[in-house]
Amino acid sequence: RLASLGRPARMTKGDAAMVLTAQPAKLRNWIGGDWVHSSVSVYEEVYNPATGAAIAQVPLSTAEELDAAVRAASEAFASWRKVASPRRARYLFRYQQLLTEHADELARLITTENGKSLEEAIGEVQRGIECVEFAAGAPTLLMGSQLPDIATGIESGMYRYPLGVVAGITPFNFPMMVPCWMFPLAVACGNAFVLKPSERTPLLVNRLAELFEAAGFPPGVLNVVHGAHDVVNAMLRHEDVEAISFVGSQPVAEYVYKTGTSHGKRVQALAGAKNHSIVLADADLDNAVRNITSAAFGSAGERCMACAVVAVVEEVADELVARLVEAADAISIGNGLDDGVFLGPVIREANKARTFRYIEQGVAEQAELARDGRLDAAAAGDGYFVGPTIFDRVKPGMAIWNDEIFAPVLAVVRVKDLAEAIAVANRSEFANGACLYTDSAKAIRLFREEIDAGMLGVNLGVPAPMAFFPFSGYKKSFYGDLHANGRDGVEFYTRKKMVTARY
Ligand code: NAD
Repeated sequence: RLASLGRPARMTKGDAAMVLTAQPAKLRNWIGGDWVHSSVSVYEEVYNPATGAAIAQVPLSTAEELDAAVRAASEAFASWRKVASPRRARYLFRYQQLLTEHADELARLITTENGKSLEEAIGEVQRGIECVEFAAGAPTLLMGSQLPDIATGIESGMYRYPLGVVAGITPFNFPMMVPCWMFPLAVACGNAFVLKPSERTPLLVNRLAELFEAAGFPPGVLNVVHGAHDVVNAMLRHEDVEAISFVGSQPVAEYVYKTGTSHGKRVQALAGAKNHSIVLADADLDNAVRNITSAAFGSAGERCMACAVVAVVEEVADELVARLVEAADAISIGNGLDDGVFLGPVIREANKARTFRYIEQGVAEQAELARDGRLDAAAAGDGYFVGPTIFDRVKPGMAIWNDEIFAPVLAVVRVKDLAEAIAVANRSEFANGACLYTDSAKAIRLFREEIDAGMLGVNLGVPAPMAFFPFSGYKKSFYGDLHANGRDGVEFYTRKKMVTARY
């Protein structure tokens, strides 16, 4: 029966693969199973942030190209929705196998376009594959529910159906994992998908699409349209787009949510963050230092689950700050493809300049600059490097406490106790993640009950849920009702029919 899925398509040496070997390629869109050049003359350079070298050119596609992708998806949907869910799952099993076989290549591509270390990129590939594995459970996930006797001789049942064409808009910081939160589950549910990846990291998605094609999925089930706000605006208004999954910065998430819903679409928009970690006096400091260092400076702080603020009780504050500085001094900075490198560049020169402005502002607001990452920047090379930066004695309300800097900058706030630490964290307008380092069950319970954050960690640094749980931020970290992944994801990508019957 596997053979009846159709033969895997020939593996194309596509745009993305060329980047690692040849001249900067003009990236193509993938519409209705065809790799097509955009009609635009405007292309944006894609840079390797570790070297500053241009590695590709991405088209800023038009509303008409988005429309062509939506039409291709609508056409594919008409038959894809009729493919039995166990068969849809089998395509995903094959896709999972191909992603696993190409994991090393995918990780290298992530590092090349995003800058994160190869180790982090390997972890990201694994997180992406786990989403495909979750989606392959489609037959179970899509089950409805019945009650045989809502009244004498009358039964009632709930059945799940796909929505139609779903669109996805993704950020630069997880070129593989975030798209994999979206399209595998959406297509497993029977939808067709149009994806607009970040124009700063567009290569990996083309490779994901090539492997999707190789897995034998019918043309048009997944489409990729490269570009920026013009494509997004066309998605938000297109009458044949039923739902939109967005992940990116807070202002854009709010805009996408408000505009999309005002056009009658279902929208889930995952947004920015300013995650606090709390360190109590009874914490294992070795563990806290190791995990906070990794959560604050790993992926150059460009994670929505990064640790941006540490609220530490006075008793251990001097020791913690000294040890964090020591750990930061030991970090090796450079091209993420090189052995032993932990901290790569931020994504663009403009992000580096913005980070420097925040560091200047922190100094002007009289936080204590315990470690200045600007000093590492020049030594690290031509890329967009910022070294690990630590501010001590930060006060809530300062810009470096308030704003998502999205760079390797850590703010330490000194507090008297857990209650004050929770109060500080809860002043943030964001509510994505929060961590607590302690040995006290009572403290952990209070933290769980009182903290404003959707994803909590205890004695670990990055409490990102796995694919079968929801990615559950709130406040300004999320707009919508149903989160990405887990049962929420299934609910988001399906609609229900209730049937009430008398025989
Ligand atoms: P971004 O908002 O700049 O871009 C995200 C997407 O929106 C891109 O595809 C981009 O092309 C598009 N876009 C940007 N500006 C737009 C505009 N004015 N109109 C329409 N579309 C626009 O975000 P980014 O810098 O790529 O990603 C980093 C952000 O994403 C951070 O804020 C981070 O916290 C957030 N993020 C959140 C989560 C989460 O789960 N909450 C996960 C990953 C990243």
